[in-house]
Amino acid sequence: MAGKTAIVGKGCVACGECARLCPSGAVRVADGLSARVEESLCLGCGLCAKNCPTGAARLEKREGHDLPPVRRTRVIRRRLTEYLWIGEFFFVISGFCNIIFAWLGLIFLFAPLGIALFGGGKAYCNRWCGRGQLFALLGKAGFSRRSLPPAFLRSPYFRYGFLVFFLTMFGVMLHGTAQVFSGAPPDAAVTFLWTFRLPWDWADVSAFPPGAVQFAFGFYGIMITSEFLGLAVMAAFRPRSWCAFCPMGTMTRDISRLTMRR
Ligand code: SF4
Ligand code: SF4
Repeated sequence: MAGKTAIVGKGCVACGECARLCPSGAVRVADGLSARVEESLCLGCGLCAKNCPTGAARLEKREGHDLPPVRRTRVIRRRLTEYLWIGEFFFVISGFCNIIFAWLGLIFLFAPLGIALFGGGKAYCNRWCGRGQLFALLGKAGFSRRSLPPAFLRSPYFRYGFLVFFLTMFGVMLHGTAQVFSGAPPDAAVTFLWTFRLPWDWADVSAFPPGAVQFAFGFYGIMITSEFLGLAVMAAFRPRSWCAFCPMGTMTRDISRLTMRR
């Protein structure tokens, strides 16, 4: 009799969504580079294939048996780390109330890079990314069309092109901040989608150095822009479609590639 088993093909970005959802613990992302399926544990349920943002996980026919020889259904327990989406939510709200809280967003920048640099691979993406959790939750709540993102969004060209664009805009933001630190007047507005200036002056930030305030405006603009893009692709495609081209995910995977080679 023929059953089905999951396989992971080309294009995996090691986001860990398949491992998170797999009821039998058959998928692991151990090296920060790609997910791997333990065929003997796979139940062929297809959850991984239906939720993979890149289409790398898919089901294939397996000859011989319908069910795996070892049926180990994992008891899915709620862990504290599954509530990190609250932190993401708090970050967006707190920056809205007072722009200076945007500095907290540096945690979302340095934590994944630091973990990858110290040999932790993509543990941040796999377990601690509040943004990814938020998208998965919204998808589960019915806000996602759950269709596979178009091929161009999943391609390495787009992934690296977006990374270069993102880093360039980050550099522009840092340059603006440096100018304010050197005496230029601050620009008290959040720039959304790198284009639209949103006036943001309802909180008193006079106690902080103008340069620190300028960084907060620039950084918050980048963070809510990427949040918006992630929400848009979550709604239009699969819940964690953002992971297919997330600049942090791309950087941590490349860092993992280097650190795992040592
Ligand atoms: S891209 Fe993510 S969901 Fe798809 S196979 Fe790789 S780790 Fe699993
Ligand atoms: S098909 Fe189901 S059991 Fe098999 S690896 Fe995917 S999620 Fe796990």
